[in-house]
Amino acid sequence: MTISKLAREIKQSPTLQLNEAAGKLRDRGEPVIHLGAGEPKSKVPMDAILSAAAKLTTADIRYTNTKGIPSLIKAIIRYTEDYYGKTIGTKNVIVSSGAKHAIYNIMVTLVDPQDEVIILAPYWVSYPEIVKMCYGVPAIVTPGDGRFVPKIKEITNVVSSHTKAIIVNSPNNPSGAVYPEELIAELVEFCEKRGIYLIMDDIYHKLVFDKKSAVSCYKYAKDNSANSKLIVVNGVSKMYAMTGFRIGWTVANEKIIEAMINVQGQNMTCPSVVLQEAAAGALNGVQSGVESLRLTLENNRNVMVNELRAFTGVKITPPDGTFYCLPDFTAYYKDSVALSKFLLEKALVVAIPGEEFGMEGHLRLSYCGTIKEITEGVARIKWALDPESPNEIYIGDRRYRRDWK
Ligand code: PMP
Repeated sequence: MTISKLAREIKQSPTLQLNEAAGKLRDRGEPVIHLGAGEPKSKVPMDAILSAAAKLTTADIRYTNTKGIPSLIKAIIRYTEDYYGKTIGTKNVIVSSGAKHAIYNIMVTLVDPQDEVIILAPYWVSYPEIVKMCYGVPAIVTPGDGRFVPKIKEITNVVSSHTKAIIVNSPNNPSGAVYPEELIAELVEFCEKRGIYLIMDDIYHKLVFDKKSAVSCYKYAKDNSANSKLIVVNGVSKMYAMTGFRIGWTVANEKIIEAMINVQGQNMTCPSVVLQEAAAGALNGVQSGVESLRLTLENNRNVMVNELRAFTGVKITPPDGTFYCLPDFTAYYKDSVALSKFLLEKALVVAIPGEEFGMEGHLRLSYCGTIKEITEGVARIKWALDPESPNEIYIGDRRYRRDWK
């Protein structure tokens, strides 16, 4: 049996890899702190649960049409109108099994072999792999001077006759940066002029701090015709803490959605009807949970930033949103994969290497856990790295001594 060249070239998700290693340590009773997580800990909205439960109790759980159940499509249309001020119709929406699946289907729909898709570093780890799974070529833009946001010129410089699309994720996983309004305006204008698709991954749009907001691409759209180049992806995973429900969606022009329906019809028939009902319940239900999650994360962000600012040598750019930050540890370690391994071994802290996101020398630290996890997690990292910190630390009820340089 041989494994395909394509499958052999796809990287294992670094988060899943670290989860496995951390899981093994936990099984041995080690008090691991997980600063690698990519999901909020808050409860799923009751409206989602009740809606899914009501569907289950009918005992009539079948396939749905490929693009999604009418009540969820209607809820997404209303969400798009309320949140983006954009009027769309049912033909502009398709529901998928999570935003990741939506992005995969978009790529299958748009990318021909050797087409280039521009990805802006630091980037979500799955973008390059998804592009490669469609036989496309990821074209990575790395902003100069360690910045987390590229300049328009840095992006347009890599555009070629093979460029099919640009993916933008703001607020950004892993940096938490919200891209400036001016950059979004320039990108929309550039893509419309050049006939390049602009894929906006808006999955963290509601989780923005300091009274800022992530601007909508529609605000600057001039081409609202059936040929619009704007594609917006969203889902219930982050804003409603519904990661396990696996519901996301795409808003795009009718031709793209029609093609995506064919693609989705052949790769998964339809998302689960029970989970679609849950997502409709969340979108139509009480929204206060979203704001309370945002406030909790803002507070956690403040604690994380304060802890890291007190850490000599570490450079932290405060995140504007999400539940991640991407501090620079190059003063201690240039190789972030080695650093992540060292921290898990010595300090029992999970941190995702920046190299995976196209930002070597950094670590992605999540602040979606408890305040105790954040403060203790950073304290352990400091103990492991900073020779100025006390030589001994208690982890659980065990005393650890730093015996390395
Ligand atoms: N986009 C980004 C930037 C993400 O961080 C994630 C989840 N980690 C997703 C998409 C996928 O979300 P979903 O759970 O809806 O597949």
